Amino acid sequence: MSYSLFYENVTACDECDLLHRIPPLTVGERFKCVRCNCVLLNVHKHAAPRLLGMAFSSLLMLFFALIFPFLGFSSSGFERDITLYNMVTVLILQDNLILSIIISLALFVFPIVYLSAILGLALSFHNRYLTVSLKRYLIRWIIVIQPWLMVDVFLVGILVALVKMNSLADIELGLSFLAFCAYVIFLLKTVSLVDRRWLWNKVAGPGPNHVISENLESARNQSLIGCHFCGATLDGAACHCSRCGHSVHSRRPQSLVSTIAFLIASVVMFIPANFFPIMQTTFLGMTESSTIIGGVFLLWSLGSYPVAIVIFLASVVIPIAKIVSLSWLCWQYYYPTERELLQKIWLYRMTEVVGRWSMIDVFVVAVLTGLVQMGNFISILPGPAVLSFAAVVILTILAAKTFDPRLLWDKNKAIKPTLLEKNE
Ligand SMILES: [Zn+2]
Ligand SMILES: [Zn+2]
Repeated sequence: MSYSLFYENVTACDECDLLHRIPPLTVGERFKCVRCNCVLLNVHKHAAPRLLGMAFSSLLMLFFALIFPFLGFSSSGFERDITLYNMVTVLILQDNLILSIIISLALFVFPIVYLSAILGLALSFHNRYLTVSLKRYLIRWIIVIQPWLMVDVFLVGILVALVKMNSLADIELGLSFLAFCAYVIFLLKTVSLVDRRWLWNKVAGPGPNHVISENLESARNQSLIGCHFCGATLDGAACHCSRCGHSVHSRRPQSLVSTIAFLIASVVMFIPANFFPIMQTTFLGMTESSTIIGGVFLLWSLGSYPVAIVIFLASVVIPIAKIVSLSWLCWQYYYPTERELLQKIWLYRMTEVVGRWSMIDVFVVAVLTGLVQMGNFISILPGPAVLSFAAVVILTILAAKTFDPRLLWDKNKAIKPTLLEKNE
């Protein structure tokens, strides 16, 4: 079976700024940065029809997940069925408006906007009914929303909540739960098919061409700027990208200052997040509050070792590791050590990948609040720490987003001579 070739011009690596001339690719091929191994372009097989199918299936499954009962709860003669939608309404009724907004955004609003944008784009590849400016607008939404999709984290949160409630009540999985699992799988598959450079190329054609040196050089050294939004390469004097229209900068402006500010804010929020209770449980008229770490100890003492470990990793280890790693990376800009740059970049990628999993505990509290509402017999409410903890997760994600890894490679030049001297 023969496929047509995919052409894209010069591009600069998103993570190390190295310039590459992308060779013509066939479908199923991908192109990686030769210096830092970052995947720059991935031409998936039948990407457009698969995106269309996955995005449509995902939206359809979300519709089914919303209309049928999601979870059933029964204990000592009390019974309760809830839908996904109820989870949000219970939070609003309990005056937890901000938490209900966070859950709605993560679970419905962001995914629906994201999937609709993909659906619109994928359809427009066949029928050219959308203007280029509208398509650009849709891709922007796709790129901005993608890091904030957390339905898979929510699914793990539901499973943790079910294990937590196992000893207190019988939990029944409704038809919507299966639809929700399918929604998560289709959404993850959709995300894996999205490639920024491929999408921009499809909508606005290849980026501008340039003559580049045969030696491996960064875009900055050749007076060029790599657009962080679409991967096009522009002249050093450009203020806006000619392909996507986004403002361009050789390095993200105020990158380290923003990262450090977000890190300080997350450290400040981390204190109330661990000091105040994250959940309040009423059982037979007695109300008990538990902090994050208290909840971990309780689960451990009840023998739920895997869940205790998951919560401990997600709520304690990951946020602390992320704050320490990003602080160390900022430090490395000012006082670089001789440690391999690839190790530093690996650390940066890990902070980006694992950060959002810290939201598990916030989702567990939201699920339990929605599910367990039986007045004085048994009911669960979010504690004051839940919003501080959600703020920690959001602030650390923003800290990672504002950090520009290309700065680490800029400093590489400064330490190269010392390395050479040592080797001699
Ligand atoms: Zn690179
Ligand atoms: Zn661009």
